[in-house]
Amino acid sequence: MHFLYLQASTIVHVLTFMTVSASHGAKWTYTGSEGEDNWYKHYPQCRGPFQSPIDFEPELLRYDPTLAPIEVWNYNLSSHEQLTLGNNGHSVQLSLPPRMHLSGLPHHYSAAQLHLHWGSPSVPTGSEHTINGKQFTAELHVVHFNSDMYPNISMAAPNSDGLAVLGVLIEVGEFNPAFSQFLKYLNGVKYKDQRIQVPAFNIRKLLPARLDEYYRYDGSLTTPPCYASVLWTVFRNPVTISEKQFLALATSVFSSSKQETAPVVLNENYRKPQNSDNRIILVSFQEGVLVSIVVASAMGLLLIVTLIWCLLRKKRAERDQQRAKDIIYKPEKKEDKISKV
Ligand SMILES: [Zn+2]
Repeated sequence: MHFLYLQASTIVHVLTFMTVSASHGAKWTYTGSEGEDNWYKHYPQCRGPFQSPIDFEPELLRYDPTLAPIEVWNYNLSSHEQLTLGNNGHSVQLSLPPRMHLSGLPHHYSAAQLHLHWGSPSVPTGSEHTINGKQFTAELHVVHFNSDMYPNISMAAPNSDGLAVLGVLIEVGEFNPAFSQFLKYLNGVKYKDQRIQVPAFNIRKLLPARLDEYYRYDGSLTTPPCYASVLWTVFRNPVTISEKQFLALATSVFSSSKQETAPVVLNENYRKPQNSDNRIILVSFQEGVLVSIVVASAMGLLLIVTLIWCLLRKKRAERDQQRAKDIIYKPEKKEDKISKV
């Protein structure tokens, strides 16, 4: 029974990958005429409400003491298990078994896949979410679907309660051995639609040490069809990869297939921040948030005081000018009066 379940889930993963990579409607890219500004022409939800990513601006943040630490289950996979690493032309993606799941959320969410967004060697800023305008080098997304309600990710994705994604911000720094567990196989998926089997590893090691500090909001897929069905959890603390690891990611895979004569390097595969649409971003941590709110309020107050001061100064200048005019005209009036007398 268990074996059959695993087999069925593997088929679902392969189908999901094929759906995403081969037959999912119109072609889309990150630049040019099929770039993000035109996604909505074939995928209308990309211009709909509650889109992702967004910038975590201090004014949108609200501390929520009820947000519990994220708990991940069965993330420590054995190296005897095989995962499918693929290049779908938009990212590199690793399939994940559905026994990996999250708790502490409104539903039971099972893992489906993880993938990355990144910059280029010349512009090494490629995260999708940004913190108060700061864009990081790259971003990892671990995608889960609501397995209480839906049998697989394809069925779950279009529904508002369908998905939960963990976002991990990545910056260049120390070498990260966990990321090398799949980055070392990138040469096997150089071209679009290529797939290989790679040994599984401890997926928990890709996440930051602290799973209790995060941003939480309702958003969307950051790629077409842009379904607004994602409960986002973006961890506050970034993880690092080395410069060499980043360059491997940013230079060794192509968005074009092997048959195409001019290969196109796959990088800068991130969507720009979307409108907040009056959304509140809940935060599970207090320190830093209060400080930024205080700083933002103080700056706002300073701006108001400066504006009032400028206005008063202008009025006073106008009054002084008027007085000066009065002083100039007075003798003339006197002369007039004298001549009349
Ligand atoms: Zn993503």
